[in-house]
Amino acid sequence: MRKQSAIVGSGFMVSYACTAKCRHCMYGCSYQGRRDYVTPEKAEEIMAQLEWAGVTDLHIGGGEPFLNFEGLLEVIRAMNQHQILVDYIETNAFWCTDQDAAEEKLRKLADLGVETIMASCDPFHSEYVPLDRVTTFVRACRKVGIGYFVWKEQFYRRLSKLDPKEAHSAEELKEALGDNYIIETAREYGIGMNGRALQIAREIYPKRPAREVSEKTQCTRILRGMHCHVDLYGNVVPAGCTGFAVPIEDFTERRDRLTDPSVYPVLARVLTGGTKALLEYAVSLGFDPETEAATNCDLCYQIRCYLREHGDYKEIGPDVFYEMMET
Ligand code: SF4
Ligand code: SF4
Repeated sequence: MRKQSAIVGSGFMVSYACTAKCRHCMYGCSYQGRRDYVTPEKAEEIMAQLEWAGVTDLHIGGGEPFLNFEGLLEVIRAMNQHQILVDYIETNAFWCTDQDAAEEKLRKLADLGVETIMASCDPFHSEYVPLDRVTTFVRACRKVGIGYFVWKEQFYRRLSKLDPKEAHSAEELKEALGDNYIIETAREYGIGMNGRALQIAREIYPKRPAREVSEKTQCTRILRGMHCHVDLYGNVVPAGCTGFAVPIEDFTERRDRLTDPSVYPVLARVLTGGTKALLEYAVSLGFDPETEAATNCDLCYQIRCYLREHGDYKEIGPDVFYEMMET
């Protein structure tokens, strides 16, 4: 029997690269920038660590896992090798251009024991992926007999009134769904306002000076092992809180290091004194306290960008996240 793990109900990010650049993407994924995809060797190393840490199951996400189909098969083999169950695979269905080819891929996944695949479908994805791809995905899954779900089905119905063969601009979506569709979709989804979705938060909430926005409350969201991700570099990416990267062993076994400012000066301050403590630390290093932010996470992001530029903080990462956020 495996030990109780600090990582539960979580996912493995095979890449930050994607065919889309959705405006709500918490992980800042993009078709611009680095195309790193987890190597078979690294996947094996990470799964061995996760098995040792007691992890029993993970979903596979990204970025877009199907950008490197052979790489995806290797990840599943590594998970099988270490008795880590694939809960499901996330995809935006961009690869479902031809039903026969899609079925062939699905059969290969089913042969490795994959039981469920999830296709994203909403107005944000439809700026990059035609609805037809999701339809082909569903048909192919049914034909092969592999489990699937579309997240979220109500958006599929609503988007059906637009040309399914095309992706759609924000202007077209406004015309079809209403001027306020970005904010309404974000609310309906209940999206975490972090990563690229910080831009949505900036449209919803008024900006205020840093000292007003910062909070004393310890920001312990980072410590939650539920719904977090492990990325292709072996970082634990906290749930709902992106732009921090902690090695698996510190997150699972040596958690006292997370609150030690001599090890993680940024992380430790947010964990023990909230963004208030982080702000004071950053101001002492030249950050402008008059900087305006819409939310606590927006401020936290801006401070981390500043610190990253002016120092070397291993917990502010991975680099690809910050690079893609700038694209
Ligand atoms: S939300 Fe999904 S499809 Fe969209 S950019 Fe992020 S990883 Fe890609
Ligand atoms: S304030 Fe910072 S540490 Fe807290 S949840 Fe937001 S991004 Fe994460």
